[in-house]
Amino acid sequence: MSPDPWTTILRRLDDDPPWFYAEEARAAFGKDATPLVVRGWLKRMPPSGTATCWSCGDGAVQRVVSLWDEKERLPRWYLPCRRCGPHPVDPESLECWAVDVDRILAQLRLAAGIRGQPTELVEGRLWDLGRAGLGRRQRRLYFGRAIHDRHRAAAHAELAGKAKAALLLPADGAAARWRLDGGPVAVAVEAAFAPAADGLAFDPDALEACLAEADPAGPAARPKAAPRRGTRLDKIERLVRVLTDHLAAARDHAAATRRLLPRPTQKQLALQAGMSGVDVSRCLHDPAARELRLYWAVADDLDQVLNWRGRISRGG
Ligand SMILES: [Zn+2]
Repeated sequence: MSPDPWTTILRRLDDDPPWFYAEEARAAFGKDATPLVVRGWLKRMPPSGTATCWSCGDGAVQRVVSLWDEKERLPRWYLPCRRCGPHPVDPESLECWAVDVDRILAQLRLAAGIRGQPTELVEGRLWDLGRAGLGRRQRRLYFGRAIHDRHRAAAHAELAGKAKAALLLPADGAAARWRLDGGPVAVAVEAAFAPAADGLAFDPDALEACLAEADPAGPAARPKAAPRRGTRLDKIERLVRVLTDHLAAARDHAAATRRLLPRPTQKQLALQAGMSGVDVSRCLHDPAARELRLYWAVADDLDQVLNWRGRISRGG
């Protein structure tokens, strides 16, 4: 299965330029990328000036030309292939989309509760997003993308000595490769931000846990951030308790009425367990959450609810 649009878009942010041409946009996002423009993640670019000729078999990329159709009053596009002659080109195949960096930065800042404007430190590569409130403390957040060899020196100069800040990088791979002594620890955006109904949701605990995990001896570890696994396992256990309470009530309800008490939504679970919706989603997907996933499935099945005999014992 291809990754979700948000993950695909984040990965493309590390490419230069962060564009999707028609064919790959269709493969990644389906027939119409407009909903992602509405979400603020993509913007439409002028049509591509090149196309690939598949007619003569060598897949050569060549310039397209437009001719004005006087009768229809619109431009027509042609690929004047050097080998097999001119072909009409479907204008949709020339569509081009770019990741909307500015609007994604605005969404990151909004989710993290940062006011004011971001400061661009290295053109198109590195921004100071401002200070985010993380519980009782504040942490400066930077965002970097596609920091390749020729931008590295400039980025390092801006970030040197910012050990208490966090550097958000689009994807896991880039964050894992980031190293700068005395600089901020890098965290993948998707580790701390997830798509929400309106924009993005920020999970400050996840950010702190990533910082502590990436740099156990660093300043990020000193505030009482529990190790990431510990935090996650604790949350999974809390969710298991909420779900088993629900299952006991649902069994009594089903025995009396033969009807399924609706399973709580992830949002309701989050409220009852005192965590964010992002937490619930992460816990449900955690490899260690087999018991939680089992109860999650049971709660949606009347027969299994009727047979509910309490939490399975975890011998040893
Ligand atoms: Zn050709």
